[in-house]
Amino acid sequence: MNLNQMHSTGMASPRTLQRLIDRLVERGITDDRVLRAMEAVPRHLFVDSSLKHLAYEDMSLPIGKRQTISQPFVVARMSQAVLEMPSVRSVLEIGTGSGYQAAILSHLVASVYSVERIHSLSWQARKQMRQLGINNVKLKFGDGQEGWDEHAPFDVIMFTAATRQVPTALMEQLTDHGRIIVPRVSRAGQELVLMQRSDKGWKEEVVQPVVFVPVLTGTEY
Ligand code: SAH
Repeated sequence: MNLNQMHSTGMASPRTLQRLIDRLVERGITDDRVLRAMEAVPRHLFVDSSLKHLAYEDMSLPIGKRQTISQPFVVARMSQAVLEMPSVRSVLEIGTGSGYQAAILSHLVASVYSVERIHSLSWQARKQMRQLGINNVKLKFGDGQEGWDEHAPFDVIMFTAATRQVPTALMEQLTDHGRIIVPRVSRAGQELVLMQRSDKGWKEEVVQPVVFVPVLTGTEY
């Protein structure tokens, strides 16, 4: 099979994929499970065909509707933050977008729930999951700031859009020792923050500066 055929059958070119994996390792992604998931999910199927040649570069890319698919390193870092917790069974993601982060998580935890406020993106992501035979990701069209009560509590709540504050409604849908992973807007810009609930209250760890599109309120078609 030549490279063109591999692309049309939905496989990544092994060379560009390996270069990306090497870069993730260099930048501190040490968890093998995350690296294997990044190898297994074909990112080029989550971007427009005109951008496929950039799919294995470590950069965010436009997915329409003024939204972006996150940078692979950030997807890997956030996924690694999920696995830093012992025995995670469920993750709620706010901001399905292309569905790529959810597809990576589907390899790492038993149940993934993801909410998206833009109808066409949610619909496209659903189609993509079906095509890839991923059946442990449940998608919902709606404002993710309300969470997904029906499936709560979640071990992890992950925002893939930036916000100033995590709504209380969401905190109530987290398990007792659950973790929130959030690109938080601060005076200095955006930073990736890990919030962990414990018996004594909340513990916070700032990971690094990041760039995400903002959390918006309500829904859109
Ligand atoms: N995880 C995505 C990244 C998408 S970008 C991926 O892997 O491709 C962030 C997404 O968050 C956008 O699609 C945006 O529409 C969505 N979003 C923003 N505010 C939201 C809200 N309140 N509820 C649900 N989704 C939201």
